[in-house]
Amino acid sequence: MEILRVENLVKEYGDGDTKIMALDGVSFSVEKGEFVSVIGPSGSGKSTLLHILGGVDKPTSGKVIIDGTDICELGEDKLAVFRRRQIGLVYQFYNLMPVLNVDENIALPHLLDGRKLDKERLDNIVSHLGLEDRRENLPSQLSGGQQQRVSIGRALYSRPAILLADEPTGNLDRKTGEEITALLKESNRMQKQTLILITHDERLAMQADRVFYLEDGKLIKNETVRTRR
Ligand code: ADP
Ligand code: ADP
Repeated sequence: MEILRVENLVKEYGDGDTKIMALDGVSFSVEKGEFVSVIGPSGSGKSTLLHILGGVDKPTSGKVIIDGTDICELGEDKLAVFRRRQIGLVYQFYNLMPVLNVDENIALPHLLDGRKLDKERLDNIVSHLGLEDRRENLPSQLSGGQQQRVSIGRALYSRPAILLADEPTGNLDRKTGEEITALLKESNRMQKQTLILITHDERLAMQADRVFYLEDGKLIKNETVRTRR
């Protein structure tokens, strides 16, 4: 089943002499449960693509269809709700709320949506992430790897259609980075969580089912690494 389709995505910044084509006609589709990585040199358009897929930024033209909804057509309010329910975002620098503890950070987007706390879900996620004895702590009391675990918990709590991760290990030492990658892969495998991971680390990218190569805003190669059964 197709969970994401991108059609002829174009993103221009500026105009006239200063115009930059950050994305120049990108099209692809992703199946539910797939793990896709997006790799490319600095400035190739990776972050721009992720921001558009995440509904944080609008394209100049083109479509982004997530689970049947063209998110570029949604108004601000509907888009905000769609984002909190259907899109999980994991950033390089965690983006946690400094005044909220681990539990609160994980459940926050869900609570902002006016929904009740699913205590069992929260307990499952916290224990899965190995944060049981950290639940009352603030982000400033956690290591980088622990903070990234919290941000993964927050992204997964609402069972999003897609999990988008932008250089999630970019700020971590190698061993911690591998632990974080293992967690992301595990929810991809065990929970059939569709995962799109942006990286400039080829070793990391090659752990995906498919690798998309971006260059100058174009998808120049779409390589299947392994086929799922
Ligand atoms: P990557 O994530 O692969 O490093 P980006 O998506 O950040 O690439 O950038 C793609 C291109 O778009 C680059 O040339 C960058 O300078 C440009 N760009 C990105 N964001 C903006 C912006 N807000 N305003 C102007 N140009 C931008
Ligand atoms: P259900 O969807 O049936 O309510 P959950 O998604 O809450 O179940 O959890 C089912 C199992 O998956 C639990 O045993 C839990 O440990 C595990 N699990 C929960 N969250 C994650 C996660 N983010 N990544 C991987 N496994 C998880």
